[in-house]
Formats: sequence, structure tokens, C-alpha cells
Amino acid sequence: MELKRQHLIDPVICIRCNTCEETCPVNAITHDDRNYVVDASICNNCRACVPPCPTGAIDSWLMSSRPWTLEEQFSWDDLPPEAKLEEGLESGPEPAEVTAIIDVATASTGGRVPPPFSAAHPYVNVYSRESPATARVAGNFRLTDPDAESDIHHVVLDFGIRPFPVLEGQSIGIIPPGVDDKGRPHNIRLYSVASPRDGERPHHNNLAVTVKRVRAKDDSGKLIEGIGSNYVCDLKKGDQVLVTGPFGDTFLMPNHPEANIVMICTGTGAAPFRGFTERRRRKAPDAAGKLLLFFGARTPGELPYCGPLMKLPPSLIDVNLAYSRVPGEPKQYVQDKMRERDTDLAALLKSEHSYIYICGLKGMEQGVEEALSDICRLHDLNWTEIRAQLRREGRYHVETY
Ligand code: NAP
Repeated sequence: MELKRQHLIDPVICIRCNTCEETCPVNAITHDDRNYVVDASICNNCRACVPPCPTGAIDSWLMSSRPWTLEEQFSWDDLPPEAKLEEGLESGPEPAEVTAIIDVATASTGGRVPPPFSAAHPYVNVYSRESPATARVAGNFRLTDPDAESDIHHVVLDFGIRPFPVLEGQSIGIIPPGVDDKGRPHNIRLYSVASPRDGERPHHNNLAVTVKRVRAKDDSGKLIEGIGSNYVCDLKKGDQVLVTGPFGDTFLMPNHPEANIVMICTGTGAAPFRGFTERRRRKAPDAAGKLLLFFGARTPGELPYCGPLMKLPPSLIDVNLAYSRVPGEPKQYVQDKMRERDTDLAALLKSEHSYIYICGLKGMEQGVEEALSDICRLHDLNWTEIRAQLRREGRYHVETY
């Protein structure tokens, strides 16, 4: 009987972030409301999807006499035991070939962008669903105004003496307790770390996350409550939380003080940029590199960290806020604010020390790209070439959901 290797995704540690589906150059990856799966009839084992996966769930392989179907994969709560045996073993091309494949993928499909050259080396996947870290809630504060529609929380998790090393820009997973209506454990929820590497409280083994309570009505008017976000937003001081990760090894801040960091975000997408800004403020407030923030929210009352942000000195950070739903005022998005700053952005795009980060709503990506493209046209720059160079050099990072 001939055995063939099949590429699979481990449903236990997959955080359903869609990165693999977006990265796959041959569209072999798809999903339903439960699992991400690989179509064996399309997958060519190129591994372009493996490096960008934040958890490593994608790096799972099965030797089998016949391919597992999509239907079978959709039904899994866990990989079949034989798949686990083969995980990471003889799983693909040699490292040199992998690098070549990734380069091709980056050029042609928008695949992996390396981290900034001066970023600190991150720890990833230290804690898994099977072996999570337990954190204690040190604080939970509502960030949005009492009368604001959005309920956004700043939650501080303390790890005591358990090591949980994170860098700004990384994410953690939180496991909501209990099971779903089919009796299966809930999926892990992923949140960006909103504090700097030396802790939300300096020199403490803790970190912060920024979480928006999901409460929406479906087409029939039925109220849908987000399991993970409601769990986190309702946590009380002293509660214990199961945490996985850290995840992410590319969306990291440059360490060298000459680095100009352009941060573009909407809503809770501001989380990693709070970490970046706080790191600069604590460690290099007089750095030569600029911090330039474009931040979009519906109203000032819905903008997380609005108060503390406005207290930061202009010498540290150049803040540009865009509000979309202030009564009596025109709707503004981050891309409108970027166009207003075209001369400054064009100057930054010319510098080899400039880094661009985009985080937040998926929909903003296109508008932001168009704004950058228009700004380049206005200033005799070629956005297509600049973008490719920025990506190659680890200077253009996007994290949108
Ligand atoms: P939101 O409140 O729904 O929107 C924030 C602002 O973005 C609003 O002013 C909105 O305007 C505007 N906006 C809508 N479409 C836009 C577009 N195409 N271009 C530019 N701006 C646009 O945001 P949110 O609910 O906080 O969502 C934040 C996103 O960040 C989520 O997708 C979340 O998954 C993601 N994220 C969160 C974290 C985290 O750690 N929590 C980390 C990374 C990413 P209008 O609605 O008025 O049109």
C-alpha cells in the first residue's frame, strides 16, 4: 500500500485568523464556521502558508493511503492520531528550498514579510492549548465613554512567576472556558498585546490586551454575543485565565532609535501601537526617529486610549485622529488624514529608516493603500516599487481582520 503525505491544519491550535487562506498561492485552503482545511487535490506542498501562520497549526502532516476529504477535515475537533505522529517530520522541502519558495511567494502573492532588521528576537508558541499558562486578572477597565455604543476593555493579565516573554506587536491566545453547543471546547481567541515588553506595569510579569465586546444582531434580529470577547470583558480582578502563545514573529517594532514608525489603525487595532508607543516613551523618548499615528474611530468617546494618547507630548508622537460618526461633522477615515499629511508621509517614504504598520479592520487596507499610492503620485514617487522594497526589507506590516 502506497502512503502519501497530506498537508493538514491542526484544529486544536488553529486560531482561525485566515492568514493561511490569504497566503496560499493556489487557493487550496478554505474554511467553514468551525475549521480551516486544506484541499489535497489542489495543495502542492509549497509551504508558502507555513511561515506566516502565527501558531504553527498549519505545519501538520499525515501519511495516509488516501487523502482526507474536506468534509472529514471540517468534522474534526483534533487531528487523527496518525497525523500527529507525522507532524513536522519529513514534512516538506529542505530549508534552502523553503526559503526560495517563500521568496517567490512574497513576490507574487503577498506572503511573508520579514521582521525589521533591528527587532528583538521573539519567543513564539511557548504555551499551547494542551499546556497553557495561567494568568491572574490584575485589572479590567472600560476604555470607552459610559454612553458610547462600543464597549472596549483594557484587561491586564499577570503571570506571577511563570515566564511569559512577549514583544510589542505579538499576540496571545485566550481560551474561553466551557464548550460550544456541540460539546466541543471553544476555539482560542487571539488578541494583540497592548503593552510594552517590560510589562504593563514596568518590570512586572504582566501584559495588557484591548478587547471589544461583540454584541450584534443577525439578519433575523437575533442577538449574537461573542463568546470570547464577552468572557474577557466580564473578567473580574483575581480571575484566572488560560493563555496560549505568544504568537507572531514579524509584526514587531524596530529597536534602532533612528526608526520612523508610521502606525495606521482603526478601533481596537490600536492595541499593538500602544505597546510600540509606550516602549519608545519608556526607553528612547528622545530618539531621532519619528512616531506618526493615524487612528480612526467613530467618535472621541469610542476611541480607545483617547485620554492618555492626547497627554503624550508632540515631541514623542505626532497624533492624527479621524472620526467617522461625530454628529454635524463630515465622516473622516484614516486615509483622509493621511492625505492631509502627504508631504510628511512622502518624506518618510524616502527614508530607509521608515516602517509602516497597518492594524484594524480588513476594509481599511485598500483605502490606506490607495492613499499611499496617491501620495506617491503627487510627490513623483513610485508606490508599487516602494511597497515592494518596504516588504522585502521588513518595513511594511499589515494585521487586519
Ligand atoms: P470600528 O469601531 O468598527 O471602526 C473603527 C473606525 O474605522 C470607525 O470610524 C469606522 O467607520 C472606520 N472604518 C470602517 N471602515 C473603514 C474603511 N474601509 N477604511 C477606514 N476606516 C474604516 O472598529 P473595531 O470594531 O474596533 O474593529 C477593529 C478591528 O481591529 C477588528 O476587525 C479587530 O478584529 C481588529 N484587531 C483587533 C485587535 C485586538 O487586539 N483587539 C488586534 C488587531 C486587529 P464607520 O464604521 O463609521 O464607517
